[in-house]
Amino acid sequence: MKLYEQQDISIYNSLTKTKEILQPIHQGAIGMYVCGPTVYSNVHMGNCRTFLSFDLVFRYLKHLGYKVRYVRNITDAGHLENDADEGEDRIAKKARIEAIEPMEVVQRYTVDFHTVMHSFNALPPSIEPTATGHIIEQIEIIQNILEQGFAYEKNGSVYFDVLKFNESHQYGKLSGRQLEDMIANTRELAAQSEKKNAQDFALWKKAEPQHIMRWPSPWSDGFPGWHLECTAMSTKYLGNKFDIHGGGMDLKFPHHECEIAQAEACNHENPVNVWMHANMLTLNGKKMAKSTGNNILPNELFTGNNDLLSKAFPPVVAKFFMYQAHYRSILDFSNDALEASEKGYHRLMDAYRSISELTPSVKSDYNIDEWRQSCYDAMNDDFNSPILIAQLFEAAKWINTVKEDKAGLTKGDLDLLQQTMHNFLFDVMGLIDLSDNANSNGEKLSGTIDLLIELRNQARANKDFATSDQIRDQLLEVGIQLKDGKEGTSYSLI
Ligand SMILES: [Zn+2]
Repeated sequence: MKLYEQQDISIYNSLTKTKEILQPIHQGAIGMYVCGPTVYSNVHMGNCRTFLSFDLVFRYLKHLGYKVRYVRNITDAGHLENDADEGEDRIAKKARIEAIEPMEVVQRYTVDFHTVMHSFNALPPSIEPTATGHIIEQIEIIQNILEQGFAYEKNGSVYFDVLKFNESHQYGKLSGRQLEDMIANTRELAAQSEKKNAQDFALWKKAEPQHIMRWPSPWSDGFPGWHLECTAMSTKYLGNKFDIHGGGMDLKFPHHECEIAQAEACNHENPVNVWMHANMLTLNGKKMAKSTGNNILPNELFTGNNDLLSKAFPPVVAKFFMYQAHYRSILDFSNDALEASEKGYHRLMDAYRSISELTPSVKSDYNIDEWRQSCYDAMNDDFNSPILIAQLFEAAKWINTVKEDKAGLTKGDLDLLQQTMHNFLFDVMGLIDLSDNANSNGEKLSGTIDLLIELRNQARANKDFATSDQIRDQLLEVGIQLKDGKEGTSYSLI
């Protein structure tokens, strides 16, 4: 029996604005799409929070035994500045500023993104498709929408006709906006605009002569509108209707609203069962922004190289800090809050490690079965990680009481406690025990040096001084100094 058969997950659906029990379209399998990064600059902490929120969802669903196909795209083209259709492609702009190829920008920041995600011990998605790798699919969708009568061509560009769509569908249902209000609140269209209405959005843009990123299409040499890629890649890999679509709160409108409109115009069905949106991260109570300096990049956090930080914080501590808030709440990032989380993180790890040293009792003073279910209940309630962490702290308190011989747990309960803590700390939250890592790496290093000292001794015994000197000198080059004394050879790291 799979774990998911015993646990009902309820998820807050941004579309219906209620918590709903997750009912997979296909028994035992979940299709999840999350809007990935636009790779024109370093990923910032706010993005990281969104992706770590969905890493938690991905890991928990897997832990329950679901077969999860998690698709997270890379936006490497077509993202227009300020979402204004007249804007310049952001990646092309950055490329010109730095005088390098657009694909060089894409490569650099994709690698940066992967490195950061790896530091946080986030699992890679099952498929990570790129927008530029799906131009043909995007062109096919535009053709389909044109055939359905929900788009029009103007001077080589194609726009989605929002007003026409809204006659037979509902545009604005995800963000809760009324099209009439949107129209009332828009200023007159600029005279040079090709759009019939300000709410219309680009499906295809004709490229200006100086535009470097361009592809041939039936309408012009150009590039796809940003909203289109997610419709193309989600439905290609997950089907016309799939279980979960996630992203940052800021993508709800217009990006996700446009995705729904495109998919409904094309496939005649609502593409997604559950829409999930992760909330933003503020810094010292204010919005993070590069322009004001109120900003921390992941690498600055890991190295402590930022005036707003008193020290370096390991990625796993930052991850733990983020999970101490629910993904739908705004979370404020500060040095003090991180320091508090670091203490909490170590308290949990210490408690977990000490379980194996506890002596079993004949009876238990705590109900571990009930506690275990309360951990699942927390995650089943819209992935409520702060409640889960509170449950883990409760267990840490019990562990310390047992350690002081003030209470007892049976062998069976100790095993269940250890297994459950392991599952939630490492499998579901994807934390890493830092001291564990450091210890085992230390042991590996000392074992390796001992072996080299032994080989050097053998070389000296054979009067092979060239080899013995080579071992000594090359170890010194990497910062390990051998010292020969009466007791034999010792070493120090310099
Ligand atoms: Zn998207």
